[in-house]
Amino acid sequence: MANAIYSGLPTTIFTVMSGLAAEHGAINLGQGFPETEGPEAIRRRAAEAVLTGSNQYPPMQGLPQLREAVAAHFRRWQGLDLDWRGEVTVTSGGTEALACAFLALIEPGDEVVLFQPLYDSYLPMVRRAGGVPRLVRLEPPHWRFDRAALEAAFSPRTRLAVLNNPLNPTGSVLAEEDLALLAEFCVGTGAVAVCDEVWEQVIFDGAAHRPLMGFPGTRERTVKIGSAGKMFALTGWKVGFLVAAPPLTAVLAKAHQFLTFTTPPNLQAAVAYGLASSDDWFAAMPRDLAASRDRLANALRAEGFAPLISAATYFLDVDLAASGVAEDDMSFCLRAVKEAGVAAIPVSAFYEENPVTSIIRLCFSKRDETLDEGARRLARARDLSRRA
Ligand code: PMP
Repeated sequence: MANAIYSGLPTTIFTVMSGLAAEHGAINLGQGFPETEGPEAIRRRAAEAVLTGSNQYPPMQGLPQLREAVAAHFRRWQGLDLDWRGEVTVTSGGTEALACAFLALIEPGDEVVLFQPLYDSYLPMVRRAGGVPRLVRLEPPHWRFDRAALEAAFSPRTRLAVLNNPLNPTGSVLAEEDLALLAEFCVGTGAVAVCDEVWEQVIFDGAAHRPLMGFPGTRERTVKIGSAGKMFALTGWKVGFLVAAPPLTAVLAKAHQFLTFTTPPNLQAAVAYGLASSDDWFAAMPRDLAASRDRLANALRAEGFAPLISAATYFLDVDLAASGVAEDDMSFCLRAVKEAGVAAIPVSAFYEENPVTSIIRLCFSKRDETLDEGARRLARARDLSRRA
């Protein structure tokens, strides 16, 4: 029979909502992917590499030129001093990088501190690795934790703390003092921080991403995870990075070698090229996305909705209760996709227990017409819900 952890898992909410969107011909503001195809020069590089480069197994840790480019990128943008030889591993997306971290670092019975709302792969993978989740609950509108919350979650048995910053599904960025507090707890308890920073480059209004790895005492005990899919709006590419001090990298690479061993060499070559040549892209991409965020927020406000603040990611959250919707997030999202032709994601799906049930997540990395029509259809869904 199937493993109990897996046989009991629901299908992820992204697949459910995208399936309903297709079935009902709805506008999909649910799953987080751009409507554009990503930078053409990088895609051309990938195509050339397929035709003229090697299509055989690349090195297990990743192409040297990509590992060098990753180290140089994080040095330049985040002030991190990384040795590409011993501290960078290329994975098949951030998803594999997360799996590597959990499989390589958790011993059965270890406690793992995680923050709700949670990205959907965390808990199943932590549990499969034998970890015992200790959950910290974050709430709108600020999605912050405090010292008391960390004191309740951390213990001498804490092995890992898993942080997603910027945070999907909220679009929030942790304040410097909150990062410093978490760093203090990791250092104090000897926990390793697994930092899912896949949204690090998708951050708005001139803000700079602060990696937890840059805080005092964390350099040797942090696993930093990145994703080229998010950096370059190529979400299907699944090229990710694991960055960690050499003793951690050595064991992470052991997990990687038996999960996927390598990642397509052509995509790696194209990402290496992209990292080295994309200053313009890294300036324009957040600016364009912030314009889309503002367009959706304004269209929603004009319809009487109450959007929350989005400082990063592809997502804008809306407070249903403050928008005149009495239904919970899941009921409203099902109604919206089936009856009004617009898909959104209920944020309660990101909670394991005691969910926040009045917030929906909308993806704004879409064309203006899609966003405008999406806002109109959400207003229609609200009308229908009021009449029901
Ligand atoms: N972590 C978070 C928080 C994400 O939002 C995503 C993608 N939606 C991932 C990890 C997975 O990244 P990738 O697509 O590179 O596997």
